Amino acid sequence: MTRRKGIKTQPADQLAAEDDEADGAAHANAGGFTHGAELPIASALGEFLSDPPPGTPAEVVEALTLMAGDPEHPLPPRLYFETVEQAPVAISITDHKANILYANAAFEALTGYSRDEVMGKNESILSSNATPDSIYKQLWRTIQRKRPWKGTLINRRKDGEDYLAELTISPVLDAAGRIRYYLGMHRNVTREHELSVALRQQKTRIETVLDAAPVLVVLLDTDGRIILDNQEYKKLLGDLRGREPLTLLRAALKEQAGFDPLERAAAGEGFRDIEVSIEVPGSSGPRWFACSGSAVNESDSSLSGYFIRGDAGDQRLLLLANDITGRRREIERAHLENLRARLAEQQLAQGMREALTAASFQLQVPLNMIRAASAMFKDGSGNPALFADMLGQVTEAGEAALATLNAALPTEMPEPGVNVNINELLRHVLALETDNLLAAGIVVDWQPALVLPELSGHKNELRSLFKHLIDNALQAMYEGGGSHRGLRLATRALDDAVEVIVEDNGPGIPPERRLKVFEPFHIGWRNRRGRAGMGLALAQEIVNQHAGSIEIDPQYRDGCRVRVTLGNVRPQD
Ligand code: FAD
Repeated sequence: MTRRKGIKTQPADQLAAEDDEADGAAHANAGGFTHGAELPIASALGEFLSDPPPGTPAEVVEALTLMAGDPEHPLPPRLYFETVEQAPVAISITDHKANILYANAAFEALTGYSRDEVMGKNESILSSNATPDSIYKQLWRTIQRKRPWKGTLINRRKDGEDYLAELTISPVLDAAGRIRYYLGMHRNVTREHELSVALRQQKTRIETVLDAAPVLVVLLDTDGRIILDNQEYKKLLGDLRGREPLTLLRAALKEQAGFDPLERAAAGEGFRDIEVSIEVPGSSGPRWFACSGSAVNESDSSLSGYFIRGDAGDQRLLLLANDITGRRREIERAHLENLRARLAEQQLAQGMREALTAASFQLQVPLNMIRAASAMFKDGSGNPALFADMLGQVTEAGEAALATLNAALPTEMPEPGVNVNINELLRHVLALETDNLLAAGIVVDWQPALVLPELSGHKNELRSLFKHLIDNALQAMYEGGGSHRGLRLATRALDDAVEVIVEDNGPGIPPERRLKVFEPFHIGWRNRRGRAGMGLALAQEIVNQHAGSIEIDPQYRDGCRVRVTLGNVRPQD
């Protein structure tokens, strides 16, 4: 027999001796390669065996003969051998103890060992010691039962590098059904493993991010079936007691916004921040969602799309729905509060008007008497007793008018000191003034400090303070008549205090009136209607309560800049 250089072969008698030590089972098992009892070899195989190709190891000749199996249709052995030798998988043939008898070229390339180095050695030479023993036990249990085993082991190359080996071991049985050889085939699946781990990690990351997002996210196929959703979606599903949120949102978009999101996506179009409401059982009122959608083109994963370039896949719809119920309710609440405040103001004004009308009517009586008394005094027709009587009546009528006026004065409700964020408070005041600002064509430059300490303060009083300052700025710019009207509001944190700037580009306040404007009943407007000249006086009082100050900035020349500083409200206030 020809020996291939460097390949260790075993004599046939030695193999026969090992047979006895090996498996004693007499019957062939379906799992292994078996051979008929007589080993009738077809002519091609006979030809091969009578003259094996140069370098063919004896064990390979025998193993291939056994593996060729079907005596009616044997494979041409030369072709069989070439196939094994050149196969892109690492193939080895071992004895029944896993001692290597043959290894192909791919085995050498994958493991880094030459055939010389592994010949006669146990396959355990490839072990990295990282595969659990239980796997080996299971491997051996299976192959010793003459069944093929397939599994994954952590192998180590000769250069020390570990790789993941996907291994198939098939027992090769002889004519008597005894295990003669093991045929091992393995390939390096490290890359596949790394890719699948990376894919899993990527999936976990995406799911984590999606689940952490405070927005409902759902990805739909063209038929509206859910491919992916997140925790917020599931939460709403729970709130809806099992009714599919998607169905409701889709219907709401159709009814309230007039389009079907799926049709939009099919046309490759998206949409942004469309606000719709749905009824959720147990909620006090509808839940509002700002919906956005994007058409997502997914590449075709079917086999028929393998050779087709470009995106021939489906248009998916990525639907995001942000629960804005809180914001909506806040806006509604602010509107209601505003309405309530306006009603209260109107009622107050109405009451004051009535009281003033009554008082001015009552004042007519003493005035008429004073006029009569003064006429009598001038022409000398009166006497002291009459004058005394008249003065008594005047006093009485005057006191009645005063009592009417006093009764009309609104009682002051003490306001508790609460934590106030001045930025938020100013933002609310600005929101309430939006209509007036728009109507007057005023451009607002809002420059809030990024971080502002919270103050303890009287919220309503502070709100009316800033509303008054903004109303003043509006009137100033209106009376100034300039074409560009700009209002700047800025806040700044000071030590234990907050500074607020209210700046307009109206006519400004001349230096001699900068203190006077804070005096009660001072009115400097051309249009005095509805003005009592008490606004800045009250503003000064509110600022004082908050341990602060208010001044007209003397440095500012392009209009009027009111500088307010506010500290914490005094406890006694
Ligand atoms: P070992 O002590 O050799 O074996 C561990 C356990 O395996 C033992 O506790 C025992 O339960 C079982 N076992 C080992 N040998 C036998 C035996 N002769 N009869 C019954 N049970 C036994 N291992 C790899 O790590 N990488 C490979 O690529 C690889 N390829 C193989 C290919 C073939 C064809 C065969 C038959 C085996 C292959 N093996 C491979 C298994 C290898 O032979 C060793 O069993 C394994 O590497 C563990 O070796 P060890 O020295 O760590 O432990």
